[in-house]
Parts: sequence; structure tokens; C-alpha cells
Amino acid sequence: ASKSVNLAVIGAGVVGSSFLKQVSGVKSNISYNLILIATSDNFLISRDYKPLSLSTWESDLTSSKDSPLPLEGILEYLKKSSSPVIFVDNTSNQTIAEFYPQLVQNGISIATPNKKGFSSDLSLWNKIFQEGPNAGLVYHEATVGAGLPIIGPLRDMVQTGDKIVKIEGIFSGSLSFILNEFSTISGNDSKFSDIVKVAKNLGYTEPDPRDDLNGLDVARKVTILARIAGFKVESPSSFPVKSLIPKPLESVASGKEYLEKLPAYDHEMDELKKEAAAENKVLRFVGKVDFPNNTVSVAMEKYDFSHPFASLKGSDNVISIQTERYTQPVIVQGAGAGSEVTAAGVLADVFRIAERI
Ligand code: NAD
Repeated sequence: ASKSVNLAVIGAGVVGSSFLKQVSGVKSNISYNLILIATSDNFLISRDYKPLSLSTWESDLTSSKDSPLPLEGILEYLKKSSSPVIFVDNTSNQTIAEFYPQLVQNGISIATPNKKGFSSDLSLWNKIFQEGPNAGLVYHEATVGAGLPIIGPLRDMVQTGDKIVKIEGIFSGSLSFILNEFSTISGNDSKFSDIVKVAKNLGYTEPDPRDDLNGLDVARKVTILARIAGFKVESPSSFPVKSLIPKPLESVASGKEYLEKLPAYDHEMDELKKEAAAENKVLRFVGKVDFPNNTVSVAMEKYDFSHPFASLKGSDNVISIQTERYTQPVIVQGAGAGSEVTAAGVLADVFRIAERI
């Protein structure tokens, strides 16, 4: 008989909906059965573990009368499944991430694009990856660079005995776009504040652009990569993160007010841009893990016109990994966000888990 794997999907927003659509099109000798789906507002559960519909889940979920279970109740239900279970967390919720250790210790595997479990306190990371006789597997490729192959290849390098020397990358689509437009090899007169407004209008930034420009999301991604590379990062606030928000605008009440007042600081960014251009360099917002110098950092830095980061376009992400074996760095570049590529990253993790459980 062919193998069946049960899926419990938490979160059906931008990524979760794409994920379920992709699952419905899967052709494989393993069957993937949806048995639970939960959002902040709705809950749908198959009490007898028979597969829920992958074509009508959306209306079934909104019309569902099932009362939501707390995480402990979900765990009890999943433990009773006769087929192995993968818990797919498509939220950005911290409480759910803090529950991973209990799921894993009870044999439930996890596939997720949610960064929280892997970029909070080191103790949570250690509990998630603690070995145990029947521990579930945990895959989170889409937590850095969405569907791009970053975490898997980096783990492979480490596990095969390579030593990471330096990881450097542009891990924010919005900050990639903003600096690729602002600081170009050919030069331009564009104002930083105007570009931030364009990025917001194109939907590249969070509703309040400061949530991107503070560098915290990049810090979380760098924390994840640093830990895989063997750096014991205590938390995403335990290393220097240089925000792109002018100090006085950090405390203004709204994103709207921030955008109104930002032009008053354009001269500061102009000066940095000119300084870089005089050295044949551009400005890029990067995260770095540097083993020889024993540092982890997030900041805006200058890159030579000939560097691969200098010719980046649009909102692409890029990562450069230099190791003892790869003395010329491995470079991975491409879209680092978007529902389809992110969901595909999660689904590929589901496949990897299903083959091993
Ligand atoms: P979203 O806001 O569109 O969807 C979030 C979903 O989670 C919603 O259905 C919401 O109801 C549900 N949810 C939130 N808290 C919940 C809770 N406590 N219990 C049950 N359901 C809950 O977000 P998204 O863009 O789909 O992102 C999902 C995850 O993917 C996030 O962790 C995000 O960082 C990550 N991610 C997204 C992208 C992207 O391009 N959108 C790229 C990479 C990673």
C-alpha cells in the first residue's frame, strides 16, 4: 500500500492559501491528506481523520461550526493519528512557534516559513532541535529567502564537514528594492524618501515601512543562518543591527508621519551615496556572519561596482556563502518573497519530511 501523510495546516493567508492550492495539484505516490486547518478566525477538523476537501476547504472553513482547539488539544488529536503527521505553520505567531518542542517530542514533524521558532532565544532553538527517540523532523527552508535554496544547502555544507567562513546577503525584498533604486552603478539624483514611498505604494514594504527599515526582520534571518553555521547567537538583539530610520523618527506615532518627515533627512543618505560613488561603490543593506572576525551584524555597507550585490535588480534577495571548500563564494539569487515561491518552499519541505517519516 502506498504511504499516507496527514497534514495539519495552521494559517491560510497569502502563503497558506497558495500552499493548499499547490498541495491539491501534487502528483506523488505518497498521499497528502488535509486533516485540520485553522486560522485566527476559523477552525476545521476531521474528527475521523478522513481527508478534508482540498478544493472546497475555503468555504468549508468559513462555514465550519467546529470549535477551535487550543494547541494542547490539537496535539492530543494529532497524536492519535494512525498516519504520520506534518504540522504546517503558515503564521508568524510566536506562541505557536514556542509550542514546536512539544509537537516534535511527540513525534509530530514541522514544515514552516515562520521565523519565530528559529530566531528567538537560543534556548527555544535548542529545544526544537533536541534529539529524541521518536522526535519529529523540522524543516524551515522558507524562513530565509522564501523558496530559494539557502538553508538546505548550508546545512549540507556544515553536515559534510565544511567550515563556513563568511555568509553575506541581502535578505529583505523591500530593502533590496529601496537601495537598488537609490544607489546605482550609473548614478542618479533620486531621493531616499521618494523611493521609500514608491516601495510602500508597490506593496513591497510593511504598512509602516519602519518595520522593514529597522533591520529586525533581517536580524532574524541572519540569526537563523548564523546558528546553522555554528554560531551560538543568543537572540536577534544580541548583535549590532543598524537601523535605517533616523533616530528622531523612531518614535513618531505612525508610518504616515514617518513618511511626511523623512524628506528632512534625505541629505544624510545623499551624503553616504556620494561618498560611496566617489569610491566606485554602491550602498546595500546586508546581514553578515563573519567567522574569522567572530562577528554577526546587520548594516548598510558599501560594495564595489564589480561586486555581485552591486548589480542586483528589483526586490531580489542574494546570499553569498564562503567556506573552506568554496573559497570562491557560492551565490544564490532570486525572488526572496511572494506567495507562490514561499509556498513551494514549504511544500518541498513537506516532501522531504514525508520521505523520511
Ligand atoms: P498572512 O498574514 O497573509 O497569513 C497569516 C495567517 O495565519 C492568517 O490566515 C491568520 O489568520 C493565521 N494566524 C495568525 N495567527 C494565528 C493563530 N494564532 N492561530 C491560527 N491561525 C493564525 O501572512 P503570510 O504572508 O501568509 O505569511 C505567513 C508566514 O510566511 C509568515 O511567518 C511570514 O513571515 C512567512 N513568509 C511570508 C512570505 C511572503 O512572501 N508572504 C515570504 C517568506 C516568509
